[in-house]
Amino acid sequence: MRSMDVGVLGATGVVGQHFVSRLARHPWFEPVWLAASERSEGRAYADAAPWRLAAPMPAGAAGRTVEPCTPGRGPKVVFSALDASVAGEIEEAFARAGHVVVSNARNFRMDPLVPLLIPEVNADHLAILPEQRAQKGWTGAVVTNPNCSTVVFASALAPLRQFGITTVVVSTMQAVFGAGYPGVPSLDILGNVVPFIGGEEEKMERETLKILGSDGGRVNHAARVSAHTNRVPVIDGHTITVSVALAQQPDAAAVAEAMRQFKGRPQELNLPSAPQPAIVVMEEPNRPQPRLDVDRGDGMAVVVGRVRPCPVFTVKFVAMSHNVVRGAAGAAILNAELMVAEGMI
Ligand code: NAP
Repeated sequence: MRSMDVGVLGATGVVGQHFVSRLARHPWFEPVWLAASERSEGRAYADAAPWRLAAPMPAGAAGRTVEPCTPGRGPKVVFSALDASVAGEIEEAFARAGHVVVSNARNFRMDPLVPLLIPEVNADHLAILPEQRAQKGWTGAVVTNPNCSTVVFASALAPLRQFGITTVVVSTMQAVFGAGYPGVPSLDILGNVVPFIGGEEEKMERETLKILGSDGGRVNHAARVSAHTNRVPVIDGHTITVSVALAQQPDAAAVAEAMRQFKGRPQELNLPSAPQPAIVVMEEPNRPQPRLDVDRGDGMAVVVGRVRPCPVFTVKFVAMSHNVVRGAAGAAILNAELMVAEGMI
C-alpha cells in the first residue's frame, strides 16, 4: 500500500522524468502532483514532457495536468528537479509554505543550514533541520543531494575516513546526460574529450568536504582535494579515478575490504532504494565500465575497481555510478526515504 502523496517540481525535464519514472514504481510514495514552468502549465504531462527515457512514460503520469510551481498547492513532500536559474527562489517559497523540499538542484547545497546528504555517508547531518527551521523561519525544510560526480567520489571516500584521509586527487570521465538535454553538441563530443565542465571541479572539491565533514556539515573535513573534470562520449555513468593519501597507510587489500564492508542507515533500515551492498567492489582488472555496470543496484550502487597501491600517495582506484539515478533522482528519493524512516517527515 502506498501511503504518501508526493509532488515533483520541474517534472518535465530530464531529471524530472527520472523522478516520475522511479516514483511510479515506488512502494511508499505516490506521485500525484507534477509541476513545471508556465510553458507547461495546464498541458497534459504526455504533451509537456518530451520523454527521453528508454522505459516508457508511466500511464499514471501521462494524462496528469501539469501544475504551476505555486507553494501551498502540492503535497507536503516535493522533489525538485528545477533548473538552477529558478530553483533557489521556488524551493525557498515552498519551504516557507511548509513543504519538505527534497532537492536535486545546486542552489542550497552549500548553505550551512541545509543538509547536503548521502544517506550512507552523513545521515547525521539531518540533525541540523530544527536549526534550519528556527533560523530561516521555514515551517517546511530543504534537503539536498550532491552534484552527480560528487556522489560517487564522496561515497567511495567515506569508508576510508577511518584511515585518516589527508590528500586526494580525482579525475572524472563524465557522461553526456549529466549535462542535461540536448547537452553538449554531438560535433563537440563524438570521438572527443572535453577537458572542462564549468563549475564542476569547484563543486566536487567543496561539496565533498562538506559531506565528509562534521556538525551537520558546518565543519569541513580537513583533507586537501584536487579535482580534474572531463566530459567524454558516454551516455550514462560517471567514472572517476582517485589517488588518495591515508595517514595510517593501510594496504590496498585493507582499503578494498573497508569499501566492501561499508554500509549506512539505508542498508540498516533496508530502505526501498538502498543498494545492497552500498559499494560493489569488483576484482576484474578492467572494471567497472559504464556500459556494463551502470545499472548495478538498480542504478544506485557505487561500483569500485582496481584498488591498488599508489606510488605517490597510499592507494588508487576507479569508481563509477549512474549520474542521473545515484547522481540525481534516485539520490533524492533515497534522502526522502531516510527522512520518512527516521520520523522526520
Ligand atoms: P531540464 O531538462 O532543463 O529541466 C528543467 C525543469 O525545470 C523543467 O521541468 C522546466 O519546466 C523547469 N523550469 C524551468 N524554468 C522554470 C520556471 N521558471 N518555473 C518553473 N519551472 C521551471 O534540466 P535537468 O537536466 O532535468 O536538470 C534539472 C536540475 O537537476 C538542474 O538543477 C540540474 O543542474 C540538476 N542536475 C542534473 C543532472 C543531470 O544528469 N541532468 C544531474 C544532477 C543534477 P519546463 O519544461 O516547463 O520548461
